[in-house]
Amino acid sequence: MSAALRRSPTVRVFRLLAGLTGLFFLTLGIGFVVFPDILAAVFSVEPAYAPGVNGIRSDFGGLFLGMSFFCLLGAATGRSRWLAVPIVFLLLIIAGRLMGFGLDGPSPAGLRFVLVELLLLAILTVSTVMLALRAGSNDTRLKGSELLNLKTLVGAVVVAAIFGGLLLSQKKIGMALVERLAARNMSADVIAELPDGLHVGLCGSGAPLPDPRRASPCVAVVAGRNLYIVDTGPSSERKMELMRLNPGRVKAVLLTHFHSDHIGDLGELLLKRWTGGSHNSPLEVFGPAGVETVVEGFNLAYSPDSEYRVLHHGPETVPPAGAGGLARPFHFPPGKNEVVILDADGVRITAFQADHAPVKPAVGYRFDYKGRSVVISGDTIPNPSLREQARGADLLVQEALQPAMVGILQEQAQRTSRRNTARILGDIMQYHTSPEDAAKIAKEAGVGHLLLTHIVPPLPVSNLKAAFLGDAGRFYQGPITIGEDGLLLSLPAGGKQILIRSLL
Ligand SMILES: [Zn+2]
Ligand SMILES: [Zn+2]
Repeated sequence: MSAALRRSPTVRVFRLLAGLTGLFFLTLGIGFVVFPDILAAVFSVEPAYAPGVNGIRSDFGGLFLGMSFFCLLGAATGRSRWLAVPIVFLLLIIAGRLMGFGLDGPSPAGLRFVLVELLLLAILTVSTVMLALRAGSNDTRLKGSELLNLKTLVGAVVVAAIFGGLLLSQKKIGMALVERLAARNMSADVIAELPDGLHVGLCGSGAPLPDPRRASPCVAVVAGRNLYIVDTGPSSERKMELMRLNPGRVKAVLLTHFHSDHIGDLGELLLKRWTGGSHNSPLEVFGPAGVETVVEGFNLAYSPDSEYRVLHHGPETVPPAGAGGLARPFHFPPGKNEVVILDADGVRITAFQADHAPVKPAVGYRFDYKGRSVVISGDTIPNPSLREQARGADLLVQEALQPAMVGILQEQAQRTSRRNTARILGDIMQYHTSPEDAAKIAKEAGVGHLLLTHIVPPLPVSNLKAAFLGDAGRFYQGPITIGEDGLLLSLPAGGKQILIRSLL
């Protein structure tokens, strides 16, 4: 297109329209890359944990940035052919949207989206046609025959036939998928696939305040082939199974204290461990004094269910003697703040005093196996026993609460006259550890890696991570990981490294 033609009033209007559409896509593209969770919520998409956020950032971000690029290119050069690219994408998006209305049902949000998409399609189509008409025949305008010819028609028919075939075979596809998934899940044994060493899985990285991506506290520790569960917060048992950790293989539960967010799923875990493994003795539940009451309570509450299971599945499948839990209380020897509660199969587990006053008793645990060590702080403020136990540990799994953020929640609760909530938010700041203090402990104790868990307040979007860490990076130069459900940190025996991946 010649410079004079590019500047003609009609061409200018349609170049401007294409440019504005490009800027709209650019805003969305940048939004998806920088604020993936927030834009995902606007688009009614729910990312599944960190890999989901990553997918939204890259796939949605890439799609909108790509469409923006071709719109802006078309606007800058006045060449209609560049606008064909976003038009094709919009057509496919609208086709998918309409297909979704048929398969999943229409929704008010979906209808709003399709209206916007149709409007954008109309703007780009009119701009393309007008620019093409003005460009004259000797320019590199997009010719209709390039898009609509025998080859493209045959291609469209083939694609439509594939779609149609897949949609008509939903029943068959569903059954085949069930078969595949069943084979995958039934044969799954995450523990058998792990190298010899210590492995720490987060089956609950949250706390009592609801976080859509975090169950309440639960840490799975695999030492060799043995699976131990530290705390059983609400929703953690399901999370464990979603991580393909078989509850039938749990060797023992260790409770740090008896706040409800640490014990809520104990009944579920005891039941699933029993029905998942034909055990002849109850599951051992270690804890400080008071664990007897907790275990007795869950055993009592689940006793009718246990009877139904035996009647239904038979005692050979679910031996009555294996139901429920067996409390294994421990005490610190006089003058001591630590006690070894288990030393077998090369695994040594040490319980140590935590400071979660006024909650007493409260403890943390240290696991040692083949030269690797993991310390789980339990709910606590920084305390000498924790520093002592964490000394030289490969990994410190530390509870963390960010007071600056909780302070904002407290102010808001006060402003909206939610006095109980405001009072409780003020109180909890006094018996937890800030990320900055966690970093100081990690530095002083010389730990290799700091994993923050029991995250308070909830972090429903990834953009909150930096604010949550605050100044932690100033006090500890080693790696700091903000815990998320499904994370697995592997410490192979005889090595120094820590490998991280997600089991969700
Ligand atoms: Zn607590
Ligand atoms: Zn707690």
